[in-house]
Amino acid sequence: MMKLLIATGNQGKLKEIQALLQGSAIEIVGLDQFKDIPEVIEDGATFLENARKKALEMAQFSGLLTLADDSGLAVDALHGEPGVFSARYAGEKSDDRANNSKLLQELDDIVDEKRQASFHCVMALAWPDGRCETYDGQVSGLIMRGERGTGGFGYDPLFMVPEYGKTMAELPSVIKNRISHRGMALRKVIPLLQKLAEQ
Ligand code: IMP
Repeated sequence: MMKLLIATGNQGKLKEIQALLQGSAIEIVGLDQFKDIPEVIEDGATFLENARKKALEMAQFSGLLTLADDSGLAVDALHGEPGVFSARYAGEKSDDRANNSKLLQELDDIVDEKRQASFHCVMALAWPDGRCETYDGQVSGLIMRGERGTGGFGYDPLFMVPEYGKTMAELPSVIKNRISHRGMALRKVIPLLQKLAEQ
């Protein structure tokens, strides 16, 4: 079976990627199988630069075909912030709760009609020899005035999906995976992964 390293320390992302790849002839390997993992500095200006960097560095380190994603939230009224800083919006050591309360604070004065936002994801598939392919996905929504729901992770409890009248954290995970930025990007990679797995 073909091995694929999923280069993320984020358990929420790992679970979603595992669910989306279930049933394929691919053996998923996590970072927990490795010791002394080098830290990848996410200093790119875009999701694409960061995703490529993570995937390429970890493919070289592990010697395995590697999938990495970089993702985040872009809020229209904040000119695309937090963007590539989504994981550390409230500071270097911030967690989901701190990031969500900072976002609510920043949007306090913004009226309901102007609370549009989108989640973005770039998936990068890298080979140890330095090749890399990227795929993107996005989903639009609105930022609520308080958290709703307990599913998902990150900004999900604040992200309302108008088509469903529910936040990402209220939607069952199968639905989130069907409509999410990560699901969209991953579905674009899957045909290539399946082709590679059959070789
Ligand atoms: P990354 O690990 O640098 O890609 O950071 C991604 C950050 O963006 C996460 O820590 C979350 O704050 C946010 N994010 C990305 N995808 C999602 C999602 O599906 N739901 C909620 N927040 C997300």
